[in-house]
Amino acid sequence: ASAGPSTMAPLNADLLQVTLNESAAAPDFDNLVFGQKFSPHMLIVDWNNKTGWGVPHIKPYGPLSLSPAAPALHYASGLFEGMKAYRSADGSGKIRLFRADKNMERMNRSAARAGLPTFDGDEFIKLIKALVRLDRDYVPHGEGQTLYLRPTLIGTPDTLGMGVPTEAQLFCICSPVGNYYSSGSGSKPVSLLARTDVVRAWPGGTGCYKLAANYAGATQPAMEALKEGYHQVLWLFGPDRQLTEVGAMNLFVVFRDQSADGETTNYEIATAALDDGTILPGVTRDTILSLLRAYQQGQVAIDGLPKPERITVAERKVTMDEIMDKAEKNQIAEVFGSGTAAVVCSVDKIGYEGVDISIPIQADGMGVFMRTMLREVTGRQWGAIASPEWSTVC
Ligand code: PMP
Repeated sequence: ASAGPSTMAPLNADLLQVTLNESAAAPDFDNLVFGQKFSPHMLIVDWNNKTGWGVPHIKPYGPLSLSPAAPALHYASGLFEGMKAYRSADGSGKIRLFRADKNMERMNRSAARAGLPTFDGDEFIKLIKALVRLDRDYVPHGEGQTLYLRPTLIGTPDTLGMGVPTEAQLFCICSPVGNYYSSGSGSKPVSLLARTDVVRAWPGGTGCYKLAANYAGATQPAMEALKEGYHQVLWLFGPDRQLTEVGAMNLFVVFRDQSADGETTNYEIATAALDDGTILPGVTRDTILSLLRAYQQGQVAIDGLPKPERITVAERKVTMDEIMDKAEKNQIAEVFGSGTAAVVCSVDKIGYEGVDISIPIQADGMGVFMRTMLREVTGRQWGAIASPEWSTVC
């Protein structure tokens, strides 16, 4: 019988087959540089447009076998996610994922944009959990250390044709990673070079998807920023020079405004809106916005923030003109990036058209909002703060 769309198999975690790695090296958490060490197993599932999703396999970590014509290698027919497995600090041995459903939604949106197959995110989460359970000894124990998970989907047919890929591979590899704040002495603020001559993403483009294609082109601009003495690129967009993202993080700016009587200070925390397709919808960004809105509505208590009625949470356009104007008036309270790798990362300087704009930083290298969000978000990721709706135990 000819296999038509009606016989396409969905991704099914119940079919999982496991081949153990008999020569797995013992876990080694010394000098954890991001993405350099891997756990002994990987997950891989083949797809084709005749039969759909194949049998999921967990097998020893190792090279892929790939046609040299595969569109993944020529047309950036690929996309990925960044997630982490967090080992509970309470000694229970529990290992958690944080908001994995958000990563699955984003991955499926990316897949659709790239013409790659979509899948049932719940099934993929079950498979990732099985992989993490198997490699649980490779989830580091140190404070802030995690097992970084890299789900990936690539187009693999043996053809240089540019059409919709007829074959694909979905896989996940795992890498023990260190604490971004490894010194234990607080945050390392980063300096940004605001670039007007390069563009990361544009309306109608692919910036809002986690496509591989978005990342290669960011390399030279980032190298040049480093050469000029800045840590990361502040990606601007448009004639009005809107602040979009920083490196591979979303960006938050906290403005402050003194009342006329000088008695009270109001704060506005702003990040770019998601409406024009230039911004990656970060899971950390969404978590921060959700927590701040819940705080404003009295649904969650958060120590250390200004009173709820003093805070405005805004998803809106912020331009370099506004940054320069408010920096001059001392109305910028703090600037920070957000992403899975660092959670939050404070900014102490923005270089723009030959001038350095200083951003206030407290003695611990953080600001009030950034420090508070670091505590609140990591608390929920590691399980010190209960958040059943966001947390899955592996
Ligand atoms: N922007 C870009 C361009 C990114 O690559 C990432 C990392 N995924 C982020 C923002 C932050 O997203 P998340 O909070 O989901 O890690």
